[in-house]
Amino acid sequence: MLYLDNSATTKVDPEVYEAMLPFLLEEFGNPSSKYYPQALNSNNAVVEARKNVAELLGVSSKEIVFTSGSTESNNMIIKGVADYYSGNGNHIITTATEHPSVLETCRFLETKGFEVTYLPVDKYGRIDIEEFKDAFRETTILATIIWGNNELGSLNNIKDLSEYSLAKGVFFHTDATQVIGKVDFNLEDFPGISFLSCSAHKFHGPKGVGCVFIKKDQYDMLTPLTPLYHGGGQENNLRSGTLAVPGIVGLGKAAELAIKRMPENINRLESNEEYLTEILKEKFSEVIVFNNDIENKIPGILNVQFRGLNNELLLKQLAPIIAASTGSACSSSKPSHVLEAVGLSLEEIRHTIRFSLSPKTLQEELDIFKKL
Ligand code: PMP
Repeated sequence: MLYLDNSATTKVDPEVYEAMLPFLLEEFGNPSSKYYPQALNSNNAVVEARKNVAELLGVSSKEIVFTSGSTESNNMIIKGVADYYSGNGNHIITTATEHPSVLETCRFLETKGFEVTYLPVDKYGRIDIEEFKDAFRETTILATIIWGNNELGSLNNIKDLSEYSLAKGVFFHTDATQVIGKVDFNLEDFPGISFLSCSAHKFHGPKGVGCVFIKKDQYDMLTPLTPLYHGGGQENNLRSGTLAVPGIVGLGKAAELAIKRMPENINRLESNEEYLTEILKEKFSEVIVFNNDIENKIPGILNVQFRGLNNELLLKQLAPIIAASTGSACSSSKPSHVLEAVGLSLEEIRHTIRFSLSPKTLQEELDIFKKL
């Protein structure tokens, strides 16, 4: 079985699995407990994981808050900023191609009196910087813009967007779920980013764990916001709840491996993508249309139409040998809002399949497409 749905989720790396195991068994202590070895060992493992994640992002350990994944991270930042800063304004800027965990959160806030601008995108899913600038109002308190799109892979110009936001004195959040480990960046070069969301299961870590980067302010304090979870005050009072130690250890290990393997992984994703593109072009020249840009995108994501073929039927037929998807696993029953936003017709959307590769995919495995 050739697994090409890595944007939906990835296989846990064996080294991640090995690192997690002790924390499910003998090292089961609560990291907030004191004095005895299980508690201390658990706490040390969380400290180490936090350090690795911080290093991957290029921030300080203090700025990492562990969560259950990007859905929670996105909710936490958008609702948390909206609530805490509602006295300063009620306007949020986002895009039409965000993940549902951003879009639905914004829609919810609209029912509470907030106003949201959903910026349109070009044919590859990127927003225009001038339209972004024009969207700012006196009342804007947050811009939340996806870094790399999960369906088309297109990258937004997060540097320019976040710097403009900083100049306007507006918080800038980015959902970086799909770019972690696939785009080499260091947040030291992005002073305009106030918040960033990520999730372990998209880069060979376990499901149900992620984090949010929250920037320190000039007083070395984390940017204040209203927490989503109130309780025992873990994670700097920003995210109460007993820390999910095995998952956090897995996230930390996945981050460590992502740092170590970044150049090699990016190379492999790029060469695999090129290899598969050539096969598809040759084999299906009569029917294939590529929806994604070939440049300035997350390597390893291909979004293609097979004209005249229903995508669901095709995926069902392929399922015993190739695992792929029509797009986001989070909204697979509805036509993709991302493809709608880039201007594809319903018919074109129904012909579309996303292949998302892994650095571990072998070119010999991709040869299976030649035999279809
Ligand atoms: N944002 C993006 C861009 C995603 O691709 C996903 C996962 N499909 C999420 C957020 C949600 O992440 P999680 O599964 O960790 O809740």
